[in-house]
Amino acid sequence: MEYFQLFQPIFDAFDSQVALIDREGKIIALNQAWKNNSINSGFSKNTSIGDNYLNVCKTIVGSEAELARKIATEIKAIARSEKTESRLNHNSENFKLENPLVIHIKQVKQDNWFGVLIIQENMTKQMQTEISLRSVVEGTAAVTGKDFFYSLVYHLTCALSVSYAFVTECLEKTSPERVCTLAFWCKEDFGENFEYAIANTPCEQVIAGISCHYPRKLRTIFPLDHDLAKLNAESYVGVPLVNSSGTILGHLVVIDERPMEDGSTELSILKIFAARATAELERQKAERQLAYDALYDRLTDLPNRNLLSNHLNRALEKYRRDPNRKFAVFFLDLNRFKYVNDSLGHKSGDLLLVGIAQRLKTCLRASDILARLGGDEFAILLEDIQTLCEATKLAERIQQSLKSPFHLGIHEVFTSVSIGIAFSEPEINSSEDLLRNADIAMYKAKALGITNYELFDESLHTQVANRLSLETDFHHSLDRGEFRLHYQPIVSLVDGRVAGFEALSRWKHPQRGYVSPGEFITLAEETGMIIPLGWWVLQEVCYQLKEWQLQFNNFNLTIAVNISQKQFSQPNLIDSLIQILQTTGLEPQSLQLEITESLLMQDVKTTMETLRQLKVLGCGLHLDDFGTGYSSLSYLHSLPIDSLKIDRSFVQAIDSKGNNSEIVEAIVMMAKSLGLKVIAEGIETKAQLAKLQTLQCLYGQGYLFSKPLNPNSLFNWLVTRLS
Ligand code: C2E
Ligand code: MG
Ligand code: MG
Repeated sequence: MEYFQLFQPIFDAFDSQVALIDREGKIIALNQAWKNNSINSGFSKNTSIGDNYLNVCKTIVGSEAELARKIATEIKAIARSEKTESRLNHNSENFKLENPLVIHIKQVKQDNWFGVLIIQENMTKQMQTEISLRSVVEGTAAVTGKDFFYSLVYHLTCALSVSYAFVTECLEKTSPERVCTLAFWCKEDFGENFEYAIANTPCEQVIAGISCHYPRKLRTIFPLDHDLAKLNAESYVGVPLVNSSGTILGHLVVIDERPMEDGSTELSILKIFAARATAELERQKAERQLAYDALYDRLTDLPNRNLLSNHLNRALEKYRRDPNRKFAVFFLDLNRFKYVNDSLGHKSGDLLLVGIAQRLKTCLRASDILARLGGDEFAILLEDIQTLCEATKLAERIQQSLKSPFHLGIHEVFTSVSIGIAFSEPEINSSEDLLRNADIAMYKAKALGITNYELFDESLHTQVANRLSLETDFHHSLDRGEFRLHYQPIVSLVDGRVAGFEALSRWKHPQRGYVSPGEFITLAEETGMIIPLGWWVLQEVCYQLKEWQLQFNNFNLTIAVNISQKQFSQPNLIDSLIQILQTTGLEPQSLQLEITESLLMQDVKTTMETLRQLKVLGCGLHLDDFGTGYSSLSYLHSLPIDSLKIDRSFVQAIDSKGNNSEIVEAIVMMAKSLGLKVIAEGIETKAQLAKLQTLQCLYGQGYLFSKPLNPNSLFNWLVTRLS
């Protein structure tokens, strides 16, 4: 039997009892656990190597007698090779805890040798765990929300027979090294929740993500944790509550005044409930976040539009009851915020918004409400003010406070806000009206861009309302054929000959009459209508000029058409243009396109390419309103343009004595050196004409020669001029 002795150390390594018997039942080998009778059952008491196990079974009486009989039957069946293994449970059903056993019986065959291996396990510990688990699961299954944590700590203390249990949540934002309990069971009852610092406590490791169990001598291990002394704590088990993304939200702890056996059962049970507790914590957090998001802005922690509305409504109520309780609403919008976002990125944009919020706060009293409405818009509610002056002073204080730069990482950014202010007035019906008024005033402040703050008055409202109705009408204007073209002659300043015309759109509004392009071109750009309008203009103009060229037999006449930036960047610009020229039969040389400097500021590469293609096609190109934009003189020479149109503001600056012509002079000189033609716009007086002639500006247009005329009038004008 030497052979089996080789395996003795392996057998001995098992906590379960292991015996090897031969076909007849004679015990060949026993492990140490068996010899120690570790599970305290009749099967291992007083058995030793050489005994017959089947006989041992016969001697067993009492509660295990039935099991013994079954074991003997199974061994015999396996010996007869009717089966190869068998498993018998004893006392492990119905959660009775008297000596639950599991017996595994297994055939062992090696060459000619045949034997049976018997493994006996005591299931008390597993069963205990299972029972505890079951009681906690049953106790907490139907509970959610805050009650879940109370239920959990209560059932844990019962199931594990410990003195204390608690769940905590990390106080992340305020202080990462502190936690507060969500439920605390303290011996016989729930204790009051408390907050504590985790340094030098057993919780420190747990909150770092490591499950810990200290079955005894807890206070000796953590002498600096004075709370442990107060609780008379001896043993501790704690597990972290970690969510799926690895964030530690809190922890779950049981503490006992007595030592634990080894803490492993408690640990495995806590681990099982940690998952559920984590889910519950996350759910609560999400709920809290939802409630927060409904009223606050996450980025700046300021009240949002909803909460501001509540405050405004309350202020409005107070004011209605007592008209002395006046208040003001500020609508603030950052100037050029988009540039920060676009050039430095959204992170910097966010930083700037947070910085602005902080600066604004420093300008306010504790009772004032500062809210973020979204994007770069903020609002302030200033209650109980006596005079308008208090509001304008605040506006000035705000502008002043924003003068110093913001440091966004490595960048230094200067910014300012446009402020619109509306005051409580008896006619105001709702908080929305108030905010809208402040918003309207803000737009005016932004447009003026001087003081950067503006007070609301009714006329502003009328302007906005007018614009709104204009916008609605504008939508159908093109379909209803409400557009007309007027033509203004461009003449040679040398001999007064007609060189061509500029086509200018007019909107004939059914009620308002002619609406000037100053009012509708921006509308058209904002609504996108500029594109169909632009094509209509081009087509119309080409037909018209062709007709006049034929009527007057003058094919030198040209026409200039204003092209908006949006139309210019249409990918089909060139193709559509070719098509229009073909159908109208107009030579490309007769058509001149007027573009503005702002267009050149856009995508330089594609702009240059389009300009080049237009040049190849043969069209003329005018740079309109020259001098008002920001075009870089450095690339003017590389632009394939033919003419500069001097903006009329420079021409009109020339007084009756011909003074004030420096800018015009400079432009003419520069154009000459670049080989460009110059057309002066807005010539109204003889003095202006004379000056331009001395400066050798070759072309001009203006009321002095003719106002823009409708086609019939222009025809007549041409008749007198050309004959
Ligand atoms: P613009 O291209 O610079 O056109 C010249 C403007 O100066 C015209 O104003 C014209 O009526 C005005 N003007 C001409 N001579 C004189 C003068 O001696 N004194 C004064 N005070 N003004 C004079 P209008 O027609 O109101 O057009 C304004 C602007 O609207 C145009 O400026 C042009 O940029 C734009 N626009 C007009 N029609 C169209 C169009 O069909 N498409 C596009 N995209 N823009 C257009
Ligand atoms: Mg023009
Ligand atoms: Mg112009």
